[in-house]
Amino acid sequence: MELEAQYKQLGISKEVLEFGKNIEASLKKRFEAIDETAEYNQLKVIQAMQEARVSDIHFAGTTGYGYNDLGRDTLEEVYAKAFHGEDALVRPQLISGTHALTVALWGSLRPGDEILSPVGKPYDTLEEVIGIRDSVGSLKEFGVSYRQVDLLPDGSFDYENIRKAIGEKTRLVEIQRSKGYAARPTLSVARIGELIRFIKKIKPDVICMVDNCYGEFVERKEPTDVGADMIVGSLIKNPGGGLAPIGGYIVGRKDCIERAAYRLTAPGLGKEVGASLGVSQSLYQGLFLSPTVVAGALKGAIFAANIYESLGFAVSPNGSESRHDIIQAVTFGTPEGVIKFCEGIQAAAPVDSFVTPEPWAMPGYDSDVIMAAGAFVQGSSIELSADGPIKPPYSVFFQGGLTWYHAKLGILKSLQKLSEAGLVTIP
Ligand SMILES: *Cc1c(COP(=O)(O)O)cnc(C)c1O
Repeated sequence: MELEAQYKQLGISKEVLEFGKNIEASLKKRFEAIDETAEYNQLKVIQAMQEARVSDIHFAGTTGYGYNDLGRDTLEEVYAKAFHGEDALVRPQLISGTHALTVALWGSLRPGDEILSPVGKPYDTLEEVIGIRDSVGSLKEFGVSYRQVDLLPDGSFDYENIRKAIGEKTRLVEIQRSKGYAARPTLSVARIGELIRFIKKIKPDVICMVDNCYGEFVERKEPTDVGADMIVGSLIKNPGGGLAPIGGYIVGRKDCIERAAYRLTAPGLGKEVGASLGVSQSLYQGLFLSPTVVAGALKGAIFAANIYESLGFAVSPNGSESRHDIIQAVTFGTPEGVIKFCEGIQAAAPVDSFVTPEPWAMPGYDSDVIMAAGAFVQGSSIELSADGPIKPPYSVFFQGGLTWYHAKLGILKSLQKLSEAGLVTIP
């Protein structure tokens, strides 16, 4: 009863709360499985920290060149151990996921080389990095070519055309784990493993790089466990656990990491420089919290999928399929649905709950976009956040939630807003 009163004070009606309660009750088994994965991954992270002998001296920052930054070097050892790679580059100087991917690509590619994406179009921001869309400074300008093989209509790999696309020039294969904002399935780690085995059989020395954004700790294995030479991601998504204020990571084969480090800093300097400026503790502690934070975000995504699916909306992934990233899409079919959903997410936030998000023109988008985020870290998408382009089919993409309880409140609040606007009828 106390809990009900608390929800009421936050604007959730009895009707919405009851409906949510019934959905939550039906998800008990799945939530248990998520908790078991989180437990496994929590132990994996603790073991890595113990083996690297993490101590409070590692939380001290360096300035200037950052020579002998023990905290930085040990954090990289922890990442390498936790993700089962030979080495790692984990830096606040990797300013985003796109930047980390850029550094990884530039490190390993030389003029005349070719990149192959065997899983369709890569993430939007990589189009300009690679030069799929013409851009100043792209890899294309430096003589690196690009090839793409799309997934088959049923989502499976087009093995025949992948085989044909691998040639003399193919130096690196880019595999994006999460579907991001594309309409294709997210790849499980097992499927990534199959793909890598197939590619390595044809060309053993090709570098298989996985864009691991939004996938970390969703499963017990990571792509490095199934043959990936490099995995790359952002610290303001899953592995930063909500605490990392900035950063990106690359984990994998020693030579790949070394080349990436020479690209990030300078040839000859590599990993030896780069001051940690006092953010190391947040990066350690964020990684430590990440498995449970990811579990909360996953529960939120599954809760939302089941709520909106049972109200008759199209959701992707659907309410019952297995999960390989933390992104959830809901298609409302009307601009009002997208707007009300985002208003609800915003109203449930710990930060900026009092502002009302509105659709707006954004660079890089061909329609107005509405975004909801009340985050401690600007742009953080491991925190509860949503965005929807105002164009058919009027879908909203959302992800994150540092705790399950916050994700739950956000989703209930979205439902409340839709219900008050007469856009849904709660059975
Ligand atoms: C977020 C994301 C990126 C880019 O990361 P930013 O930190 O936004 O630059 C790349 N690939 C995928 C799949 C992503 O989800």
